Amino acid sequence: MSDPQHENLHPETLAIRGGLTLSEHGEHSQGLYLTSSFTYASAAEAAKLFLGEIDGYTYSRFTNPTVSAFQQRLALMEGGERAIATATGMAAIQAIMMTLLQAGDHVVSSQSLFGSTINLFAGQLAKFGVTTTFVDARDLDAWRAALRPETKLLFLETPSNPLTEVADIEAIAAIAHAHGALLAVDNSFCSPALQQPLKLGADLVMHSATKFLDGHGRVMGGAVVGSDKLIEQIYLHVRTAGPSLSPFNAWTLLSGLETLHLRMEKHSANALELARWLEAQPNVERVYYPGLASHPQHALAMRQQRSGGAVVSFVVKGGREAAWKVVDGVRVISRTANLGDVKSTITHPASTTHARVTAEARERAGIVEGLLRVSVGLENVSDLQRDLALGLD
Ligand SMILES: *Cc1c(COP(=O)(O)O)cnc(C)c1O
Repeated sequence: MSDPQHENLHPETLAIRGGLTLSEHGEHSQGLYLTSSFTYASAAEAAKLFLGEIDGYTYSRFTNPTVSAFQQRLALMEGGERAIATATGMAAIQAIMMTLLQAGDHVVSSQSLFGSTINLFAGQLAKFGVTTTFVDARDLDAWRAALRPETKLLFLETPSNPLTEVADIEAIAAIAHAHGALLAVDNSFCSPALQQPLKLGADLVMHSATKFLDGHGRVMGGAVVGSDKLIEQIYLHVRTAGPSLSPFNAWTLLSGLETLHLRMEKHSANALELARWLEAQPNVERVYYPGLASHPQHALAMRQQRSGGAVVSFVVKGGREAAWKVVDGVRVISRTANLGDVKSTITHPASTTHARVTAEARERAGIVEGLLRVSVGLENVSDLQRDLALGLD
């Protein structure tokens, strides 16, 4: 529910001021409502609340003031009418699927996706008779060719993980709409501070709030943002099926949103500086970062994103052995597959996030043995350079 009083405010202001649900006590910071249920003034009021004839809180699986504040603020930041929060990013994707699709329907999705998203489409959803075709996100003809009469939804992630392939949101939204289908975009990597897919024509945006929205590696969360009409349908699924966000996590995420713009700006500046430095290292074969002029889709990335984002991938000469030497050499950067944290993290995709994929499929997708992915945090960049140099030299 967008608040008309916020219409003329800038995104940085909305991230701090937007959506608060304040009580009569005059608290300055969003209150944390740890309560599973809410009481009614009368039997008649309870009846109206349950029928949805009046707005109000009934039960925290449905609605909660702290969760509402997070939803309203994120909707304002994404430029959507309304948002629904979920327990995790995967729960957000599942809520979209369970709401919009039924047996016999077809999905077209970009192929470079978060691993669990691939498993959800190709494994779990297939069990219910929903099939998915995976395409190269950069190839518009492939998106068009994959459409079938029963295609209801197009889904993409941009930039992709770990190779930072950029999908043209505006063009793919047009392809979806010409076919009468919807486009949903996973905006976890950019966050609304860097990219607003709804403004480029997407129908739904989803988040793993666990990543940059929290930004400090503390809590799990997810959300879907879109039109009031679509989100109402997804809300009805979430309140029934129950993958609701906890009030404590919503409260934590609200404080994450307050510094999101500041963090994304610094993440991007640090990442660009690190990417340029990596390009100059003799033992580095190739660097993937949308903010670099050498990125094949640099122009598109700079058109739809405000900056390159936090994730830099690079290929070291010497394959797995050389890559592992870099991973084992770091003393500041964390060895973990998570990302979107103020702390920089490093991972070797071929032996971790993409280990279950066959070697041939990995090579075809560009996940070579020498590839490393860094989610660049907010530390001083020269400390990160020195850290990576320990294993590179
Ligand atoms: C982490 C992640 C997800 C899944 O989110 P969870 O909060 O871990 O459930 C989905 N998409 C992307 C791009 C992610 O990075």
